[in-house]
Amino acid sequence: MDYQLRGRTAVITGGSEGIGYAVAQALAAEGVNLILAARGEERLRARSEALGAAAVVADVSSLDGTTAVIDAVRAAGGADILINNAGTGSNETILSAPDSEWQRYWDLHVMAAVRLSRGIAPMMKHRGGGVILNNASICARQPLGYEPIYNVTKAALMMFSKCLANELIPDNIRVNCINPGLILTPDWENTARKLTTGTNQTPEEYLDAIARKNAPIGRFASPAELAHFFVFLCSPLASYCTGSTYQVDGGWLNVAA
Ligand code: NDP
Repeated sequence: MDYQLRGRTAVITGGSEGIGYAVAQALAAEGVNLILAARGEERLRARSEALGAAAVVADVSSLDGTTAVIDAVRAAGGADILINNAGTGSNETILSAPDSEWQRYWDLHVMAAVRLSRGIAPMMKHRGGGVILNNASICARQPLGYEPIYNVTKAALMMFSKCLANELIPDNIRVNCINPGLILTPDWENTARKLTTGTNQTPEEYLDAIARKNAPIGRFASPAELAHFFVFLCSPLASYCTGSTYQVDGGWLNVAA
């Protein structure tokens, strides 16, 4: 299938690892020019070089960081695709977490997408249209108990996505949100290694147990498996898809949606 993406330009936050890097690889295979943003310079440069991508070392949870990304996009002549992917889990109770933790995750999961969309959508408009994808989580709709701040800020990202889609439909910019379930990124592998050190369980057994307990499909997805879905939504072939949130979770969300 020709996804008709050759020669387009995509910006991916958190493009140096995990889901963001898998999406970058999948888009590069379709002939898309890439601008990848992340904080850790060494890994970002190595990964960008491997894909012939431009690298922007930036913390997108800060105004300076998003400004640096927007400046790089402008210098590249604009972009057709923005993927707001950078994010991470939390671990707290609502009664114990200070304001600073709420603010930190709000800035990373919501304000990064707000600022980057505000800066880059006008350039897309100038090019005749574009695509914005926001990577939220199944937790935006079905909370995990240990991470209320993650659940709440990802739910806000999902609603932001809907509101932005409504605002940008007249400009031929399609905005969608993706809610992944269990995706086997290095982050999960590290957690499994940590939690099984000194126990009788192997990291693989730990991950297998989580998958069997939560996802009816009984396994994690690979980042590449999820990336295919991002590529489709980026493609003009998804021309009627806008203003939606798509679950990619092996059946984990426990409602008919
Ligand atoms: P990883 O930890 O594997 O990768 C995260 C990427 O984001 C890295 O490139 C990291 O680079 C970058 N990043 C993190 N914080 C910032 C920041 N402040 N500014 C710029 N870049 C940043 O994460 P995943 O691939 O697992 O997750 C990606 C997204 O998918 C997240 O939003 C997550 O919530 C969501 N998700 C993941 C699921 C999963 O099972 N893995 C399930 C559902 C949603 P660096 O640290 O160098 O900045």
